[in-house]
Amino acid sequence: MTAVDLGLPRRLVEFTLDGQPVSVPEGSTILDACTALGIEVPTLCWGDTLRPRNACRMCMVEVEGSRTLVPACSRRITDGMVVRTDSERTRHSRKLVLELLGSSADLSSTPEVAGWMAEYGADPARFGPPAPAEDRDERPPGEHEAPDGSVAATVHQPAKVDNDLYVRDYGKCILCYKCVDACGEQWQNSFAIAVAGRGFDARISTEFAAPLPESACVYCGNCIEVCPTGALSFKTEFDMRAEGTWDESRQRRTTTVCTYCGVGCNVTLHTQDNEIVRVTSPHDSSVGHGNLCIKGRFGWQHVQNREPRP
Ligand code: SF4
Ligand code: SF4
Repeated sequence: MTAVDLGLPRRLVEFTLDGQPVSVPEGSTILDACTALGIEVPTLCWGDTLRPRNACRMCMVEVEGSRTLVPACSRRITDGMVVRTDSERTRHSRKLVLELLGSSADLSSTPEVAGWMAEYGADPARFGPPAPAEDRDERPPGEHEAPDGSVAATVHQPAKVDNDLYVRDYGKCILCYKCVDACGEQWQNSFAIAVAGRGFDARISTEFAAPLPESACVYCGNCIEVCPTGALSFKTEFDMRAEGTWDESRQRRTTTVCTYCGVGCNVTLHTQDNEIVRVTSPHDSSVGHGNLCIKGRFGWQHVQNREPRP
């Protein structure tokens, strides 16, 4: 018989969500309740395999009696709480956050953002010229004036292509810290990347900004798995996007078990035109929770080596 771990029984907490009385298990966050009830609250920095960071401020909601808006991703529900997720104040806050993010980072490969921009009427141009999607300034981080003299993005820098496996395109980074948490004590324990600099110079970096092959990185790709904006991507994806051949509508996903060792991690192979173009891992797998090692994540080239034998 298979034993299913349901965790400890939890008392129910009653509160009001957008006018409806709701009860949820004690310890649930406002975002947990919204997700369970199908109420969309946008978020970028929340990850289902990570602890909330409260970094992006997209999921702010109103709680009666609270002077400020509160982050739905981390605020736990208490008895009698009254929460509003879609008020004038929350919509205004989301509009502003989207404008600030869109004016400092290239969000062109962030899923859902275009829809949110339209829904909340966000106009990043109010905060200056949009972050450029290409032809980024070649100057090192810290010199953020764009060639036309305007103040450029915090992370205004060209994509870092320093290995054959994955690319770091920090012009798309919103500093959500998910990659740092995935690389650090929450999962990989490699601590290869962290936030460097302060204020407008804050950026994700390896130690002493070393190229990835000279850093502590072990190429598990767990940072890519959680990056919400495409700032971190497989080299295959980066190259195909540059060529204009990346097309998710033509891709198939096949989840299988990695064959390299006996751990049994689940891998999802993303294929386009019968070639593997990216590998992810299901976050609900109890084996790896979305994490892999270098072999499972990147060791698939042999599968499609169809050169005839000599
Ligand atoms: S690939 Fe793994 S070790 Fe390297 S930076 Fe990303 S999470 Fe850290
Ligand atoms: S690289 Fe991606 S995961 Fe890391 S901080 Fe930037 S947006 Fe977040």
